[in-house]
Amino acid sequence: MEQWRKVLIAVAFSVAATVMAMVAMVLLTGEDIPWPFWVFTVICPACISAPISFVLVRQGEANRRLNQQLLLTQAELRAQVDRDHLTGVLNRAAFYSHAASYDADAPGCVLLSDIDHFKAINDRHGHAAGDHALRMVAHTLQAALRPTDLLGRVGGEEFAILLAEMPIPLALTIAERARGAIAALRVTTADGTPIPLSISIGIAPYDAGMSLDAALAQADGAMYDAKRSGRNRVLAAG
Ligand code: GH3
Ligand code: MG
Ligand code: MG
Repeated sequence: MEQWRKVLIAVAFSVAATVMAMVAMVLLTGEDIPWPFWVFTVICPACISAPISFVLVRQGEANRRLNQQLLLTQAELRAQVDRDHLTGVLNRAAFYSHAASYDADAPGCVLLSDIDHFKAINDRHGHAAGDHALRMVAHTLQAALRPTDLLGRVGGEEFAILLAEMPIPLALTIAERARGAIAALRVTTADGTPIPLSISIGIAPYDAGMSLDAALAQADGAMYDAKRSGRNRVLAAG
């Protein structure tokens, strides 16, 4: 309907312009123009402009749709570039680039979470089961976070988290809740064999202007302390 309206406007415009030109000619020359010429003045521009404007309007509409599709694809591609293909969370590069530009008003925390004895899961149940476990862990971690927090897969079975504007005691509570949720997961292989899962988490403070690498190294140290002290636990650095 919108297209026909545009065609009608174009036809009306060309007819009006031709009629105005004829009227100007009559006024300038003072000649009387016989009525068949006036009929011609209406029919000719209408016949010429109708098909041309129809084609142009159709082409314009197709271009508009193509442009919309292009913008959508571009946005999808940009989102995909940032995502880890297996788990759907941020990939390492995207996590680092987003986290490095942290500029919130209050200090936050970085967490490093590593799945316990993951190699044994792969060895016992196969790589596909390991992949399934990785997806479940990512999904559970994501569910424990707020939309403003960042979650990235920064290594094979390692996930980094940035909790924005979050003091350490509160971060410990959230990390503990995530650890508990993962320990309570009932993940199974395709044939129903249970896969026991747990994670160890290290936490370190992180604020605007601080080195992200240094904060993550601190969290990594705390995570390895958690591993050494028995795994399936959360420890803060320092
Ligand atoms: P720890 O409790 O000390 O962390 O022991 P771990 O077995 O989890 O640690 P280790 O570093 O020995 O093993 C990590 C394993 O993660 C080895 C590697 O095969 C596996 N892995 C890395 N990326 C992937 C992946 O994308 N899919 C699967 N299925 N396994 C992966
Ligand atoms: Mg590891
Ligand atoms: Mg591990």
